[in-house]
Amino acid sequence: MEKKVETPEEREHKLRLLICDIGRNLFNKEYIAANDGNISARLSESEVLATPTGVSKGYLEPHMLVKVNLAGDILEAHEDYRPSTEVKMHLRVYRALPGMGGVVHAHPPFATAFAIKGEPLDKMMMPESVIAMGDIPVAQYGTPSTEEVPDSLEPFFGKKSAVLLESHGAITWGKDVMAAYMNMERLEYTAKLTFLTRMIDGERELSPKRIEELVALRSFYGM
Ligand SMILES: [Zn+2]
Repeated sequence: MEKKVETPEEREHKLRLLICDIGRNLFNKEYIAANDGNISARLSESEVLATPTGVSKGYLEPHMLVKVNLAGDILEAHEDYRPSTEVKMHLRVYRALPGMGGVVHAHPPFATAFAIKGEPLDKMMMPESVIAMGDIPVAQYGTPSTEEVPDSLEPFFGKKSAVLLESHGAITWGKDVMAAYMNMERLEYTAKLTFLTRMIDGERELSPKRIEELVALRSFYGM
C-alpha cells in the first residue's frame, strides 16, 4: 500500500504531541524542576516550535507551544503563552546547523553537578557512549537570557551534540527532537555513571586501541 504523504498540519500536530511527551519524560525523570528547561523542534527551514515560559514541562498541552522564526519573532502563540528567553540558545543552534531539527535544555542533577564544578565528562568508559557521543565538554558560563549563553556554544557547533552549561545545566541537539532528547538521556547517564564509578574508586577508561575501534564504528552507525 502506498504511504500517505503527511500534510504540514499533520506534521506540526505530531511534533506538538511529541514535544509534550518529551516534556513529561524530562519531568518524570527529574531532569527539570518547577518551570525549568525547554524543548524545541524545527518545523521548516525558518520556523521553530518551542515550549513556553512559566509552565511546567511535565504538564504541557499541544496548544501551549509557540511558533517562532529563527530571529525569535513570535509567529503564532495562543492565550498568553510566550517563548522562554532561553529560546535564544535553541535558535543559535538552528541558525548555525541547518541539519539539526531539535534542541533540548534541562538541568539533570548528575550532569548539572558536573556543570557546577565546571568539569567535562571526558572519560571514555563505555562503548555506547564513545560511539554515540565522545566527550561532553563544558560551555563557559553566561548570564541566562543574554547572548553570552548562545555565544558559549559556538565552539562546539559541528563537533558536539551534547554540552554542559557551566554552573547551569545541559543542552543537546540532534537531527530531530527525539534525537536531541536521547542525547540528553545519554549525557545524564554518562554523568551518573561517572559519579557512581567515583564511589567505587574512580573511572576506568577503555584502552586507546579499543577507543579507536569504537570511533571507527561511528560512521557505521551513521554518527
Ligand atoms: Zn536553564
